[in-house]
Amino acid sequence: MADVVIIGAGVTGIQAALDLAGHGIDVHLIEREPSIGGHMAQLDKTFPTNDCSMCILSPKMMDVSRNPHIHIHTCSEVTAVEGEAGRFRVTVKKNPRYIDEEKCNGCGDCVLICPVEVYNRFDAGIGVRKAIYKPHSQAVPDIVIKDPEHCIECGLCYDICDREAILKEDTGKEILIEASSIIITTGYRVFDAGNKDQFSYLLFPDVITSLEFERMMNASGPTGGQIQRLSDGKTPESVVFVQCVGSRDASIGRPYCSCVCCMYAIKNALLIREKYPDMDITILYMDIRAYGKGYEEYYERAINAGIRFIRGMPAEVIDGDDSLAIRVENTETGEVELLTPGLVILSVGMEPAFDSEKIAEMCEIPLEEAGFFSSTDDKVDTVATIKPGIYVAGTAISPKDIPDCVAQAGAAAMRAFIDSEREG
Ligand SMILES: Cc1cc2nc3c(=O)[nH]c(=O)nc-3n(C[C@H](O)[C@H](O)[C@H](O)COP(=O)(O)OP(=O)(O)OC[C@H]3O[C@@H](n4cnc5c(N)ncnc54)[C@H](O)[C@@H]3O)c2cc1C
Ligand code: SF4
Ligand code: SF4
Repeated sequence: MADVVIIGAGVTGIQAALDLAGHGIDVHLIEREPSIGGHMAQLDKTFPTNDCSMCILSPKMMDVSRNPHIHIHTCSEVTAVEGEAGRFRVTVKKNPRYIDEEKCNGCGDCVLICPVEVYNRFDAGIGVRKAIYKPHSQAVPDIVIKDPEHCIECGLCYDICDREAILKEDTGKEILIEASSIIITTGYRVFDAGNKDQFSYLLFPDVITSLEFERMMNASGPTGGQIQRLSDGKTPESVVFVQCVGSRDASIGRPYCSCVCCMYAIKNALLIREKYPDMDITILYMDIRAYGKGYEEYYERAINAGIRFIRGMPAEVIDGDDSLAIRVENTETGEVELLTPGLVILSVGMEPAFDSEKIAEMCEIPLEEAGFFSSTDDKVDTVATIKPGIYVAGTAISPKDIPDCVAQAGAAAMRAFIDSEREG
């Protein structure tokens, strides 16, 4: 049976890889980042059950790493796709990690000794990492990466690594994979809240994004799971969520609903209520979209837990002496209210993944107007593309939650399995 290439190793790519490997197909999982896992690895809990996100994802990541049919290529990108269904030739560029992957055992001694601390992308900018680091404690593969941009070549890590796993020079490499089909699962990126000046993101430290808040709420995150104002480290007495930041906004080319923001804001409001029973929690929204199984009941639970829902979108977030200040018209009562939260959380929407155009061009498939990948049919054949043998699944097609991503991953894997069997 012929191999399958999966581009992107978030929960969608991981699930598709496991499904195919379960049928005895060899899979090449190509991931740009140093660890597989995607956005789900950054989340604290998941709606509507409040299960710990990594408790679901981490066993899948381990299964991927142990499965002899799955070949993980991290720090890697596809640079060319040639051929046709049954006979694709995929060129993969492996970017330098500056670590001998065979020698590193992930002990972390080099991380402890490295004196350089820089912005930590995995923790969405809250907290720091070293110049040599593991993306997070449950990273797969469980090895480090050295960041040449910030390394000062002090030499301490080379001296401490008795396995001589750290490389001074690394040019990366290129490999060619032959595959019967390709599944694109490159996911999404979150909307850059800095593009909405009125919400003062990056201007005021106590205006943060929902992804940053996920890291803040996480017990293994940079604040140990405590909610803190980044301005003074204090626990805020009140928080306000602002919905639809970068969604349902035709003026910035984002007319679509990002599907998950209402539910993740409700989730985080409920989690705050559990940890901080006296905190004042308000959600400012246009409409609450709770369409999935158990979602409406989850919303009801939040109302019953005393979370305040105000239908109305603020024009701006401004500085108000000891707190932030938000004036908002409650469109249900017609009254203008003044809120003075200690922390504002912007519920940022989903945008197409960086480089989607390049992948689309290489695979000769179209993107939709908003920039997500276009499948041939939005109703019954949602994972096929116009190019036979190339499939797409998960948030690479459109915003969706984890259960829908996993369902589409299974559908794409089944299509690729049939192709692979056909090719023998
Ligand atoms: C703040 C927030 C909270 C959320 N909470 C929940 C929740 O509680 N429950 C829920 O169901 N959903 C939640 N979601 C949605 C959830 O994150 C997504 O549904 C899910 O993670 C999407 O998985 P994916 O694999 O499709 O995409 P991603 O997780 O984005 O994975 C895509 C992967 O592809 C890689 N990649 C991208 N481009 C390339 C390339 N060119 N080459 C190689 N690799 C590439 C990326 O590095 C990434 O690892 C939340 C979203 C946000 C923003
Ligand atoms: S590079 Fe060496 S010191 Fe660092 S984690 Fe790997 S084995 Fe340990
Ligand atoms: S050589 Fe670079 S990565 Fe290693 S300890 Fe020094 S600064 Fe850190």
